[in-house]
Order: sequence, then C-alpha cells, then structure tokens
Amino acid sequence: MDRMRYLKDPRFAGIEPFENKLWLSSPTVHGEEQYWVDEAIQTNWISTVGANINAVEKLTAELIGCKYAVALSSGTAALHLAIKLCGEMLYGRPAAGHGTLEGQRVFCSDMTFSASVNPVAYEGGEAIFIDAEYDTWNMDPKALERAFELYPDVRMVVIAHLYGTPAKMDELVAICKKHDALIVEDAAESILATFKGKQTGCFGDVSAISWNGNKLITGSSGGMLLTNNEAWAAQARKWSTQSREDAAWYQHDELGYNYRMSNIIAGIVRGQLPHAWEHLEQKKHNYELYKKGLSDLPVKMNPYDEMNTEPNFWLSCMIIDNEAMCRQVRSEKEALFNTEPGKSCPTEILEALAAFNAEGRPIWKPMHLQPIYRFHSFVTKTSDSKVRINPSSGSVHTDVGADIFKRGLCLPSDNKLTEKQIDVIVDIIHRCFM
Ligand SMILES: *Cc1c(COP(=O)(O)O)cnc(C)c1O
Repeated sequence: MDRMRYLKDPRFAGIEPFENKLWLSSPTVHGEEQYWVDEAIQTNWISTVGANINAVEKLTAELIGCKYAVALSSGTAALHLAIKLCGEMLYGRPAAGHGTLEGQRVFCSDMTFSASVNPVAYEGGEAIFIDAEYDTWNMDPKALERAFELYPDVRMVVIAHLYGTPAKMDELVAICKKHDALIVEDAAESILATFKGKQTGCFGDVSAISWNGNKLITGSSGGMLLTNNEAWAAQARKWSTQSREDAAWYQHDELGYNYRMSNIIAGIVRGQLPHAWEHLEQKKHNYELYKKGLSDLPVKMNPYDEMNTEPNFWLSCMIIDNEAMCRQVRSEKEALFNTEPGKSCPTEILEALAAFNAEGRPIWKPMHLQPIYRFHSFVTKTSDSKVRINPSSGSVHTDVGADIFKRGLCLPSDNKLTEKQIDVIVDIIHRCFM
C-alpha cells in the first residue's frame, strides 16, 4: 500500500496521522495482574498447578454462569478438547493414531476464525460450512435446517458468535435438539455477551472461550473449556495434562495433550477478570460513537438483535450498502479498487486508515472461501444439493458470507480509543466516500 497516495490526496487534506498507532484491539493491563504474577513467582508456583489456576477456573465459571471451567493454554486447545469430547460421546474412543471424527461430518459456522473449525480436522472429521444470515452475521438457522435435510446423519454443530454478537441461539439450539446433535459453542470473541439474559458460553454442551491478547480481556494467551457436565470437565482436565492415569509411574490408557494453562498466565487472567465489564462498556461506547458518526453515510454497523441480545461489542464493524460500493476485486492475497465519488470499498477505507496509522481489518474471510477447505461442502439456505457452491462459477445460490466479506470491514476497536480519535476515524471514512 502506498501511504503517500493517501497523505497527498486532497480529499484527506488537513488530517494528521495518529502519533501512536491505533489498534484493532490490544491488551489493557490494570495492575492487579502484576500482584498475582508476582505472588506466583515469589512462591515458585509458576508451572501448571497453583492458586491462580484454581481461582480463575472458579471465578470464570461464576462470571459466565456455568458449572465447570477448565483452564487451558489457548482457546484453540479448548475448542479441540470440546470437539474431541463430543466426538467420543458420539462415536466412541478411537485407537491411538486415529481421530475421534474419522469418517464423520460436523456442521460449522462459516463466518468465523479458522481456530473454530480446524479442530474438526485435527480429529479427522470433515467440516461442512453453514452460511451466515444478515441479522447477526452468524450461522443461519435456515441454512442449518437445510444442512440436516442434506446430511441427516450429522450429530455435532460448532457455533461461533462473531465479533461478540450472539447468534440466533433459540432457533439454532432447537434445530440441534430436533436432530439430536451436540453443540460446541465458540464464545472466544463473545464473553459476557448475552442472549435473552443468558451468557454465551452457556449454550453449548461444551463451550470455549479465549484469553488471547486481542480479546475483551486477556491472559497474554490462554483459554478455557466450559461445561455443566462434571465428568466432561474432568476428562478435559486429564487430557490437557498428558492423560496420566492414577498410578505411581507414567501410565497411559489414552492419548494426552500438553494443553494446561500455566499459573503465570492464570495470574494475568485473575488480574483482568475484574475489568471485563469495564472493557465491555468501553467497547460499547466505541460502537455507539461509530454508529452515530457514520449514520449519514451509505453504511451500516454490524447488526444485532436489540430486543433479545446484548453483544460485548468486541469489534465495531461496518458494511457498505451495495449501491455505494466502488469496484473492488480481490485475488487470494491482493486487492485492487477504483475510487469513485460517493462510493468506497473496504480496501480503500482500510488503506486510508492504515495511512493515518490506524488498524482496521477485513471481515474474517469465510471458511468456504479458504483454499485449505476448498473441497468441503458449503450449505446456504437455498442449497438444493450437496454439490459445493463455487462462488466464482456464477452460481444462483445466495452466499451471505462472501457478500459480508466483500462489503464489510472491522474498524479500530481498541477499548482505549478516545472520542476524539474516533471522530478522526469517522472523518477519514467520510472522506473515502468523497
Ligand atoms: C481467538 C479465537 C479463537 C482462538 O482462540 P486462541 O486463544 O487464540 O487460541 C477461536 N475462535 C474464535 C472465533 C476466535 O476469535
């Protein structure tokens, strides 16, 4: 990207680059983290056992409202063990060297980060991607219904809440019940978000959250598996610590993993937890400022069900009206566009923001468009066969995910943004449409 092209463009005259880079979403440390980490260091409890781990498991379960939380090294590890638990429940324990999902299909949110769905492949299963809807940008219940018609044998569904906005859980849970399917809920981006008063992370048979550095709060890294099933929590804990049997020597009846959280990471999480709601309020404020500031442009914010849900507003996103999109083409790794008066596109806006030292990001590219998953099925609400829809083939089918990816973008959403900085970002976006 040619930064000078924007700095010299008369449309942006008078705007100064931000002195310090504005981030999409960066960690905010408050001080208590230091206390708990110091305590761990001073007492030598710096490994995968300790008071911080016990405390964060208890505090997180209480905060989110589930019975058990298992502290792990990442959200991805939590998703892996969640998917493995459901896989064993459904299909039994495989021999060493085989995945729990071999020969099995799993329905997965299409609009999500790859870590939601990769664990299906770790376990040898085949992810089938379910299209999104426009009301929340999450899994479309109609497409899920269609998928069960096309693949009646499927018994597991991985549902993510994109950008902190709860999916249509009433409908999705009812469909899964009807078809006797287990739910793995990916609440990595949505902690504290609620659907009809109940928090995300409580809807899955097993759920996962993440303490990655860009999430609402962070442990620097780390994640947790959540469940109301005591035996499942114990099983996940055992797997995460190399599956040692209760014996004097290293005895193993099943495969193990080194997925346990360290007491240092847990100390950081412990210091962050009291600030989770405060971060949410700051993120919500960002969203409201953007919504107001962009209201006169042909764009909309990432939508949510205002009657029934309260997102955590992790990322503020916008989507450009079809008529206001300038020409934009994307190859696998590059993008080009033609600027036009009154119109813009995500590429132009992201480049302009970057030129002035602010970090936005394209919408997460849907899984069915990822080269790694190109041979996997993708089911939309209008799918009439199992044939994978190739978006470049001029298919008549809807492809909501591809459309949101084309027209949408994530705005700088750091909880430390000031109103003045958001005003400037809003100004830059307005000038992109000039
Ligand atoms: C961040 C994220 C994950 C992975 O969490 P890590 O802690 O980074 O492993 C999984 N799913 C979604 C939707 C995420 O945003």
